[in-house]
Amino acid sequence: MIREERQFTVDLAVIGSGLAGFAASIFAINRGIRTAQIGNTGAVAYTTGYLDLFGRLAADQLLDDPWRGLRQLAASQPQHPLARVTEAEVRAAFDEFVAFLTEAGVPYGQAGERNVMALTPAGTIKPTLCVPSTMQGGVDALAARARCLIVDFRGLRGFSARQVVANLRQEWPQLRAEQLVFPGMEHGELYPEVMARSLEVPACREELAARIRDVLGDADVVGLPAILGMHHPHLVMAEMERLIGRPLFEIPTMPPAVPGIRLREMFEQVFPTRGLTLIPQQKVDAVRFADEAVRLSLADSYGPIAISAQTVILATGRFLSGGLLASFDGISEPLIGLPVTQPPSREGWFREQYMDKEGHPVHTAGIVTDADFRPLSAEGGPYDRRLFAAGLILAHQDWIRGRCGAGIALASAFRAVDAVGRELARSGGQSGKHQSAEGRRDV
Ligand SMILES: Cc1cc2nc3c(=O)[nH]c(=O)nc-3n(C[C@H](O)[C@H](O)[C@H](O)COP(=O)(O)OP(=O)(O)OC[C@H]3O[C@@H](n4cnc5c(N)ncnc54)[C@H](O)[C@@H]3O)c2cc1C
Repeated sequence: MIREERQFTVDLAVIGSGLAGFAASIFAINRGIRTAQIGNTGAVAYTTGYLDLFGRLAADQLLDDPWRGLRQLAASQPQHPLARVTEAEVRAAFDEFVAFLTEAGVPYGQAGERNVMALTPAGTIKPTLCVPSTMQGGVDALAARARCLIVDFRGLRGFSARQVVANLRQEWPQLRAEQLVFPGMEHGELYPEVMARSLEVPACREELAARIRDVLGDADVVGLPAILGMHHPHLVMAEMERLIGRPLFEIPTMPPAVPGIRLREMFEQVFPTRGLTLIPQQKVDAVRFADEAVRLSLADSYGPIAISAQTVILATGRFLSGGLLASFDGISEPLIGLPVTQPPSREGWFREQYMDKEGHPVHTAGIVTDADFRPLSAEGGPYDRRLFAAGLILAHQDWIRGRCGAGIALASAFRAVDAVGRELARSGGQSGKHQSAEGRRDV
């Protein structure tokens, strides 16, 4: 049966549903830009939930002050995406993003002047800028070296209370581990996502709280893997704290992890109510730059979809997400065929040592842009003035080493959406409702 094509006409199409794509959609919604977002699921579930701005400048130089780090970066790596935005833009991007998440039911702490030290799934510590409110207690307990109980669950892989305690005991002596059986999941392997959904049921919360109370001992605070509900986790946590009688905090687990799934599900619920056309769990198959509009085509189980957009933000990530493709011939950008800056040959992709502290050149490959994050063509000018790029697909950054994944995503999406607004105003596209960052009143 031939299905009828569904057609959407928008001012902005955001391709990708990682943090960069979601941030671009938030900024566009807040500026009244008619937007469609298309993105395959997956990437956001990898994140810990921590929003890193900038945690490491050089091999062994962890940053306490990310803002100072950004100023140093501008001097040492002027091509880095974070060196191409102003500090004011980075601050505005974090504030606007975090405000949206908080209002939509996944509260985060605001970006401060200093990085905080937060717990990783392995029980190591990393610098980050913003943490979900359910994880703030871990930052505080670590800073205070509080008497703390870490709980894990039989059958849960990827999170071990004993490992957390073993890795931190030197600097946090009052840390203790206990293993419990999760209510209703006495046998087999446990999955954080299933546990989180179970804890939305009052009876499960009561039973788990009773089991934690039994092993509480003299602990002043209790750390759990990130399983405290999928929607409105701060409310689930508050109820558990009331039942246990002690403050709690969450620690991220290995991916796929609940903090990212929470964000994805929240966006999928909230965006359509804010007027955004969301086409989740799909990939754009082709992008064509016609004179009157950019035409995107894809298909879902209901048939073909055509999107006609005045502007496009490409936020398709790196290799893991399919935004970049590595082959024997080199690294390519598979959707549009944009030029990719990369080492001259495969021999130059990796350094000799796998664990080389300088990282590997392949990780800085990506798309080169102008100051507004418009990808450049091989000739050096904008590939198309209606096309912008944001997030990890950008060249000249190694987000893993720099601990700057969310920072690049949010800051580049912020600048790109502002430039989209200017482009729409220039071309007379859209209803003229949109406002640039300076002209915007409500967030
Ligand atoms: C294991 C892991 C842990 C992390 N932990 C942290 C952390 O603690 N703190 C932090 O700040 N950052 C962290 N990050 C990084 C963070 O996830 C990224 O910085 C962030 O998601 C921004 O990336 P992005 O949106 O540019 O790309 P991605 O997140 O990779 O998203 C790209 C999206 O584009 C989609 N896509 C690709 N091709 C198409 C197409 N043709 N059509 C439509 N969609 C397409 C993909 O499906 C995906 O949804 C972590 C990442 C990983 C992998």
